[in-house]
Amino acid sequence: MKRNCLKAFAVCLMMALWLLPAMVMAAAPSKSDKAAKMPDKGVITGTSTPKAETKPAEAKAPETKESEKKTADTKPAAPKTSENKQGTSSKKPEPVLRVGLAEGQTSAVFTANNDFVVREGGGKGLAKYTHKDKITITVKNRQLLLNGKAVSAKKIVLKAPNEYENLVFSYNDSKYRGTFEIVLKGGSFTVINLVKLDDYVGGVINEEMGEGWPAEALKAQAVAARTFALYTVGEEKHSEDGYDVCTTTHCQVYGGVSSESRDALAAVSATRGEVMTYNGEPIYAAFHASSGGRTAASGETGTDLPYLKSRPDPEDSENPNQEWKISVPVKKLVDELRAAGYNVGTLKRIEISPLDMKGGKLGKDRFSSYRVKSVKFVGTLKTVDVPGTKLRWEFDLHSTLFDICYGSGKTMKPNKTGKIDITNRAGETVTFVGAGWGHGLGLSQWGARGMAEKYKYREILARYYTDVKIEKLF
Ligand SMILES: [Zn+2]
Repeated sequence: MKRNCLKAFAVCLMMALWLLPAMVMAAAPSKSDKAAKMPDKGVITGTSTPKAETKPAEAKAPETKESEKKTADTKPAAPKTSENKQGTSSKKPEPVLRVGLAEGQTSAVFTANNDFVVREGGGKGLAKYTHKDKITITVKNRQLLLNGKAVSAKKIVLKAPNEYENLVFSYNDSKYRGTFEIVLKGGSFTVINLVKLDDYVGGVINEEMGEGWPAEALKAQAVAARTFALYTVGEEKHSEDGYDVCTTTHCQVYGGVSSESRDALAAVSATRGEVMTYNGEPIYAAFHASSGGRTAASGETGTDLPYLKSRPDPEDSENPNQEWKISVPVKKLVDELRAAGYNVGTLKRIEISPLDMKGGKLGKDRFSSYRVKSVKFVGTLKTVDVPGTKLRWEFDLHSTLFDICYGSGKTMKPNKTGKIDITNRAGETVTFVGAGWGHGLGLSQWGARGMAEKYKYREILARYYTDVKIEKLF
């Protein structure tokens, strides 16, 4: 991927050089909970965020259980130190991201808002077009076809005639800034959007926060999303696919021009080039929808990043749906645990220390952020300790910051002793009572929203990312 990039674009060459420090970064945690950072449809019901409420469900891809499982399993080494980057103010060219929009395609239609050219990957010009033209790229006999005419190259490039002109391409009815590459792979092709970093961030942050959110919260999100993007590039998650990032929660949800909003673009512009670094490297700028009142520490997910600490987050109460309850019949609970490999026989008791974030005793089954480490299920066959994250995925809990209460509705009994006895009578139910949405690491979007009433974006970032620098890289 990089070789082609270097051949074709001087801009890419500069970018590759720029990113080199990031690319040699040690392995890092996957951004599994990216999905979690996105408020789900129906969860955000605050009247002040109408946009967030009405966003289509598909714009908020559901959290992928598999990817978050990976998070817990992946232990990153501490970021490498870089002697020469920290503290310098030398600006570099704006990086260009290679965004994989689609793989395994056999047909694609493009238009542009101005004149554009189509070239072979090697640079040879194939055709010129105007804003009135529509081109179709297809595949036949393992060869690319441009408007039905075979192209010998395995890669073709769509771009402005002038290197520095900003074009907006329409690809299969969605609009994207930058240039395009079509790369043949066997009997199909991959569609890659080459986009400047800040144009990319503009097409990302509105997918994460609704339009109409306060400016300082959007600015904080812009810096986090920009940093996150650079960190992801450094992880080389998609190096075998031929691009840097995909458009799903696996990397960051990117919708191009159609995802941009005026407020989001203003936030990107106001923070242009600003990236959070630790020891001179872009940080793993994790974020999530709602902390439930206290953020998680990176140690809770099996990683050890010094800048992700557990912090009180009182402004997160801005989230009208900060607290949640999910009731599960005991029979279903036992059945699902058995299916997940925890066969306790007949359930006799559940043990979890009561959740008391207001100075109560912190049980050993909870992390310092009060999130659940594990819950004990005592049965007739055996006793098992089930990790909080496992329960979260099995029962679609919004976070691992929860308690378990006996019963449901008005007859629900609070967990006072840490022991919930089960009688196994018909219709018996327990209720997970929790707070927050997502993994709790890094920036809480609802917390940032609350903080924005009193604080500037740098102060917001300082709460969620400890001892990091904000550097203006371009
Ligand atoms: Zn990805």
